[in-house]
Amino acid sequence: MHILIIEDDMAIAANLYDFLESHGHSVDAAADGAVGLHLAATQQFDAILLDLGLPGMSGLALCQKLRNELRIDTPILMLTARDTLEDKLTGFEHGADDYLVKPFALKEVEARLSALHKRHSGRVANRTLEVGNLTYDPKTFSIRFENKDVKLPPKCVRLLALMMSEPGRVFSRKELESEAWEDTQETSDTLRSHMHVLRRALSRVGGYDPIETVHGIGYCLTISRDKPHQD
Ligand code: CA
Repeated sequence: MHILIIEDDMAIAANLYDFLESHGHSVDAAADGAVGLHLAATQQFDAILLDLGLPGMSGLALCQKLRNELRIDTPILMLTARDTLEDKLTGFEHGADDYLVKPFALKEVEARLSALHKRHSGRVANRTLEVGNLTYDPKTFSIRFENKDVKLPPKCVRLLALMMSEPGRVFSRKELESEAWEDTQETSDTLRSHMHVLRRALSRVGGYDPIETVHGIGYCLTISRDKPHQD
């Protein structure tokens, strides 16, 4: 994971930094709220460790700014010396995801961060994908194109979902195969035939084929995220 530590106590920050880095995480650290906020707003982190009592901007104020003003939903694990229920509730109200009271075990910090990261990734993976007039709801496995339902076999759904995650990007055959077949080995003829089924179904329902073959490389979804298709 890529983790941001925002903590003004140098000894605690160094302990966290060394422990997390030695466990294979990439770590950035800030000693005050302003630097922490800047890092959190400009870089992509998997989780943030945030001290409640910081000089300048408090942990709660930072949390609130991230959530309400910057709309950043990176999981936040709040650290605090104060062991009262009230602080805990205030932290959650301001957008923290979890809470640890100092002194804490480093292993516990890592376990909580992993759990938050997993939960957050799960939520992201469960979000409905929308690309122009094409939508995919992973919770129901359903696809709609030009406001009509598209019936597809599961492998075709996985292929399409992968391409919808980055419209306009060319996906190689290998990437598509490993997404659709997971562990099973199948030949490229099978990918081609699933692509054919997928494209035919989309064309039938929507009146056009939004997938393009990029010869020698793979396939690409040609509709853009916000503009509906225009001929
Ligand atoms: Ca502090």
